[in-house]
Amino acid sequence: MPFESLARCTDCHTIMHHHETSDHDCPNDPMKDPVKRAEAEEWEARFEATTKMWEDWVEENAPHIKTAYPSIDNHPDEIAFHGQCFLHLPHDGFWGEGEAYTSRNYTNPTWGEVLIEFEKAIIQTGDYHHSFLEGLNLSKKVCSVQILEFSTGS
Ligand SMILES: [Zn+2]
Repeated sequence: MPFESLARCTDCHTIMHHHETSDHDCPNDPMKDPVKRAEAEEWEARFEATTKMWEDWVEENAPHIKTAYPSIDNHPDEIAFHGQCFLHLPHDGFWGEGEAYTSRNYTNPTWGEVLIEFEKAIIQTGDYHHSFLEGLNLSKKVCSVQILEFSTGS
């Protein structure tokens, strides 16, 4: 028999051959617990609905943004930051021709406003590669106005 490495089930710790893992009927499978299963299904349904909602929203309002939603629980009309702020994206010449972007002054911007500003920032910096918004970083504070820098991914 050719050498085959072993695998260990993370739920019941049974050691088995790799080819057996797909048929392993685990006694500790968390999905056999009806409460956990219902929770997982509820989360999955919420995740799908939120993803779809953001995909539709982005398509209509900010088409250069790629599959971005701040989190499963955030909605476009929810406040993203409490207080006065500017939203800022620095320019990196490697990723596109353009210049750094700074939004107008906002008080309590919503996630929808943040994403519309992110769309403008993508166009102004010319960086169409990093079109996934991972979050907002607290940058400098000028008087009482916080500068929030877009944290981007691809
Ligand atoms: Zn198992």
